[in-house]
Amino acid sequence: MADIDALTSSAYAHALEVIASVEPRIAEATRAELADQRGSLKLIASENYASPAVLLTMGTWFSDKYAEGTVGHRFYAGCQNVDTVESLAAEHARELFGAEYAYVQPHSGIDANLVAFWSILAHRVEGPWLEKYGAKNVNDLTEADWEALRHELGNQRLLGMSLDAGGHLTHGFRPNISGKMFHQQQYGTDPETGLIDYDAVRAKAREFKPLILVAGYSAYPRRVNFATMREIADEVGATLMVDMAHFSGLVAGKVFTGDEDPVPHAHIVTSTTHKSLRGPRGGLVLAQEELAPSVDRGCPMVLGGPLSHVMAAKAVAFAEARTPEFRAYAQQVADNAQSLAEGFLRRGANLVTGGTDNHLVLLDVTSFGLTGRQAESALLDAGIVTNRNSVPADPNGAWYTSGVRLGTSALTTRGFGGAEFERVAELIVDVLSNTEAGTTKAGGPSKASYSVADGTVERVKAASGELLDKHPLYPGIDLA
Ligand code: PLP
Repeated sequence: MADIDALTSSAYAHALEVIASVEPRIAEATRAELADQRGSLKLIASENYASPAVLLTMGTWFSDKYAEGTVGHRFYAGCQNVDTVESLAAEHARELFGAEYAYVQPHSGIDANLVAFWSILAHRVEGPWLEKYGAKNVNDLTEADWEALRHELGNQRLLGMSLDAGGHLTHGFRPNISGKMFHQQQYGTDPETGLIDYDAVRAKAREFKPLILVAGYSAYPRRVNFATMREIADEVGATLMVDMAHFSGLVAGKVFTGDEDPVPHAHIVTSTTHKSLRGPRGGLVLAQEELAPSVDRGCPMVLGGPLSHVMAAKAVAFAEARTPEFRAYAQQVADNAQSLAEGFLRRGANLVTGGTDNHLVLLDVTSFGLTGRQAESALLDAGIVTNRNSVPADPNGAWYTSGVRLGTSALTTRGFGGAEFERVAELIVDVLSNTEAGTTKAGGPSKASYSVADGTVERVKAASGELLDKHPLYPGIDLA
């Protein structure tokens, strides 16, 4: 059997030489990025490390090919190999998630959500509406028909989780296009428990009668009951859309099953492929059969030519995610989040919802006298990469915030287990309890400046260096 590590090292060493022959600074930045990623504790909940096979698949001549359209129905000649790639990626995705239909063209999570929104609207327009206007498909509707339709539908309402409760910008946040194209309302979490209150969601849905109910999150550290969400959607005649961008790896890895698996319950599911799913940077839509024809019109509705090289890498990543090793990985991601949370709780830190049962922990840093921004910066000084995040009803707003979001997907890929995550909690508490908020020029409390006690950064870097050395990133890649 081929020595995959040796082949990978040689592939990258040669690739960097080729790149350096044209623009050496890019080759240099690429090497530096690997060194930086190897040398830091990456706890960004939306990031991961894709396998060399996935990464290498992205660097090919599939990038050169235009293939607007769908498999077997392209607007360009010569797409037979792209057809192979797209069919295989979609087939793997359907099997992996047990979905009726998969669309693998979206370039990102946001694109996947746009495809979903427009296909839900297009689907609603089809059938009875087309009949009414004597049209065969949406393209036959005249401008006057559309105007009448828009007026008549009058129900472009979307109900999604609010940003500060853990929802995403695309779930109806005002400055995002989703908050402009829809009349939107948001549901939050229970102020006492921090958990989704399904009765409150139901009450809001009954009152608002949304066309689309969006479930899913970026920063909610708990599982969601999608069977209940579907009941609520059905009760008010809404389409249930689940954005599983963050936790699709846990769905693929069968950590979330039954009511916690969105695929059997939602009409349409969107995802990124690069977070817990550990694939290339991209998006994915899974849909029930009835929505498939409108999802297929993602291009030209909101997409241009698909990124064929990325669709190829999605196929490779989905093939990896079907393995028992990936299932063990996904379970370890969830177990590690528990260890991280317990490590914090044991040291008296405050967690939103009091813990986690997915891949992320939301640490409220106000008990350390810090804003999220100060905490994020101090941790970065010590080589711990996180992102600041709002907590529910955040007193510091969306820029400074009061929380830090931490995820376990990336370090679990490096091989970290429970003991290492317990130690990570200890190191984070060490940094934050040795960081002091600064003052503004006028002498008031600053939300941005801070100082870290002497010796802290060195102590924590040395300790995290030991953990990182024990679990090297891309051990098969030796560029020396
Ligand atoms: N949906 C959710 C829930 C997310 O958390 C994110 C990214 O953070 C996205 C969508 C957007 O993904 P992308 O950055 O690939 O557009």
